[in-house]
Amino acid sequence: MSIGIIGGGITGLATAIGLKKLGLPFHVYEQAPQLSEVGAGIWMQPNAMQVLQWLGIADEIKAQGMELNRVELTNHELKPIAKVSNAIVSDEFGNRNVAIHRARLQQILLNAISPDEISLGHQLVNVQESGDHIELEFANRQTQHQVVLGADGIHSNVRKHLFPKSGLRYSGQTCWRGIANMELAEEYRQLGREAWGKHIRFGFSQISTNEVYWFAVATAPQNGKDNPATFKLDLLDMYSAFHPLVTSIIEQTDEDKIIRSDISDLKRLATWHQGNSCLLGDAAHATTPNMGQGGCQGMEDAYFISQLLAKHEDAPTAFAAFEKLRREKVDYIVNTSWRFGQLAHSTIGQPIARSLMKLTPPSVMEKQMKKVFALSEV
Ligand SMILES: Cc1cc2nc3c(=O)[nH]c(=O)nc-3n(C[C@H](O)[C@H](O)[C@H](O)COP(=O)(O)OP(=O)(O)OC[C@H]3O[C@@H](n4cnc5c(N)ncnc54)[C@H](O)[C@@H]3O)c2cc1C
Repeated sequence: MSIGIIGGGITGLATAIGLKKLGLPFHVYEQAPQLSEVGAGIWMQPNAMQVLQWLGIADEIKAQGMELNRVELTNHELKPIAKVSNAIVSDEFGNRNVAIHRARLQQILLNAISPDEISLGHQLVNVQESGDHIELEFANRQTQHQVVLGADGIHSNVRKHLFPKSGLRYSGQTCWRGIANMELAEEYRQLGREAWGKHIRFGFSQISTNEVYWFAVATAPQNGKDNPATFKLDLLDMYSAFHPLVTSIIEQTDEDKIIRSDISDLKRLATWHQGNSCLLGDAAHATTPNMGQGGCQGMEDAYFISQLLAKHEDAPTAFAAFEKLRREKVDYIVNTSWRFGQLAHSTIGQPIARSLMKLTPPSVMEKQMKKVFALSEV
């Protein structure tokens, strides 16, 4: 079975490493000419850390990132909204949430396969199943595989060919992300925080000794654009009522490294696979980032699909088993994350969410998180 993986992002690379571990032949095609130092930070939660452990690279991720002891939801003055327990960021095996620069995560994943197992500068333009193989057409060449895994992100081209009617759902929120060149005070260094104001949020954590990753979320019309001359000042203005640490983090960020992205998810697909092709990660089930689980779910996909392809002789059987195992959890995360984001930005919803958080005993929150962090049997 020769497997073509479209997309060399988190999901595509993790899947490649999983297939390599199990001795299945694969090749990754990535549109970018090189995987360079882009993006901001990412939180890899215990479920993703379990997968990274299985892939043999968890220690390197921990060494190049920052393990978090706690993630707190706070008000705009950084005062916690609810009592939190350290267990909310760890699982039964002691894996904790690791905050890391995305480019470093990507590089560690890339280093775990050999250069001849990935073709960069390969943008897929067409995919067609034909008899016992699938034709892949790139901007610069054509090739074929027996099985195709579409890990090409929220705007997936593979998905457009398999399921042309699929569409995105805009959340009504946009997000700026950046990396500040600074070290937080010791008590904040192993803490993730998300502060809630009126229709705006601000989250941050240390990701290395001298870098703080942050995200700022605001209610905004879709496809809005920043004024390049004033946008950092505009952001500072937007967060002027927050704790001074928040504005200090924005101030200490290089303007040209701030990224703006509208927050959308993918409308639920009836199925993720067709014939010998299957979608993975954001291509199959992009979620809003409110639970910090999108990339973690891509990791879980990698863990399950590689083992199921090794277990079953034909790909469609593996894909059906994959969808059966993954659907319930993925649907829970996409729906909960969507609701959470809507409540956080709603005038009526936010006070309700705050009260619910105050009233929910830490043991109940802990139980919910343990469910998210658990990996089922293959
Ligand atoms: C603001 C924000 C914060 C987030 N924070 C977190 C977090 O803390 N934790 C977490 O787990 N998740 C987080 N996420 C979600 C996470 O970023 C995504 O779920 C994750 O990147 C999905 O990985 P992927 O590999 O499936 O897709 P992508 O990362 O989108 O990778 C797809 C790859 O496919 C390539 N590609 C696309 N089209 C083609 C083509 N036609 N041909 C060849 N290659 C192609 C792309 O270049 C890219 O390299 C966040 C998302 C946002 C927006």
